[in-house]
Amino acid sequence: MKAISLCSDLMKCKSVTPHDDGAISVIDCFLRSCGFETKMLTFVSSDKSNAVVNLFANFDGRSAEGAPSLGFLGHSDVVPAGDGWDTDPFGAVQNDGYLVGRGIADMKGGIAAFCSAAANFVRKRGHDFSGAIKILITGDEEVGSPEGARSLINWCCENNQLPMDCIIGEPSSKIMLGDRIYVGHRGSLNVKAKSVGKQGHVAYPAGYINSLANVCKFVANILDYEWKYKDHRFPKTNAEPTLLFTTNYAANVVPDLSSVNINVRFGSDYSAEGLKRIFTEIAARFGVELEFELNGNAYYCYDQRLVSLLASAIESITGISPQFSAAGGTSDGRYMASHCNIIEFGVQDATIHQKNEKIKIDDLLNLERIYETFMDKYFFN
Ligand SMILES: [Zn+2]
Repeated sequence: MKAISLCSDLMKCKSVTPHDDGAISVIDCFLRSCGFETKMLTFVSSDKSNAVVNLFANFDGRSAEGAPSLGFLGHSDVVPAGDGWDTDPFGAVQNDGYLVGRGIADMKGGIAAFCSAAANFVRKRGHDFSGAIKILITGDEEVGSPEGARSLINWCCENNQLPMDCIIGEPSSKIMLGDRIYVGHRGSLNVKAKSVGKQGHVAYPAGYINSLANVCKFVANILDYEWKYKDHRFPKTNAEPTLLFTTNYAANVVPDLSSVNINVRFGSDYSAEGLKRIFTEIAARFGVELEFELNGNAYYCYDQRLVSLLASAIESITGISPQFSAAGGTSDGRYMASHCNIIEFGVQDATIHQKNEKIKIDDLLNLERIYETFMDKYFFN
């Protein structure tokens, strides 16, 4: 039941990235009152233009050294509310069995549920368990985590505080709470392709080099590329053009500069370096220049114990056997995955980033129970 009041306090904070508006303090106070040692950590961008508040909280069992440590990871920032809501997006509104507000599904509900579950667990067990519970809350996931997860995970590495296993409370369920766990995610690579040609009159082909034609041929070849598909745990690799730019609007002028942005989602069949080689080889045929930005490599949780403990906790509370999926978008898991086992589980994702974002109050309470049941199984099975 704690989850509802903690969630309501969080929902009243207008924590639109990079603002915190007291959200981290709400979680900090809650966890400290339950006996966690906490540290609020503000990380500042190298040009000093941006500062983000994050939280690390720890609760040691009787023998933390070398014993399993369980982490929960979440982000307290939300995307802007936008217009057209039926109720106040930051009013912590309860309506017809639902909690309604910006960030309730993505992912203040998840944070409230795992913090409350951890509080219930330590109230019940005290320090009488082997291992440690670590809670990591970041403040800028919605903009790619420059001063959030990346810095907080580095801090955990430097201070020997990384958990061995980690649950991310992002919304993972599809139609009903518990019907899907994310056991991995595809990688994401941004490609910016640019062609510099020579401007000219359309009627005089000898006098120009058409940058837009070069970019279009490059895109056509990427769209026709036969991506190999061996590892069926991930969805097939796909590359999608997302933005086309050119310098000309007149019907009879050939543009001298054109570019296209492409985003690639890839499973374990490809590494980022392998993809870059494929793109570079195709670009060379059309005189196209490339810039790459890697958002994250593909990752997968190979630890069957972790996955089956969570699945049985879900089943015992909801009666549902979850589907294991490696689809979906990227999360802060991409920064954590090279350090520990990661699985993502939380409420339904149906209304995230939409107006009137909502979750069922019963789902929030059941999520708290699932996390608590999972902790019992994790530390005592
Ligand atoms: Zn999220």
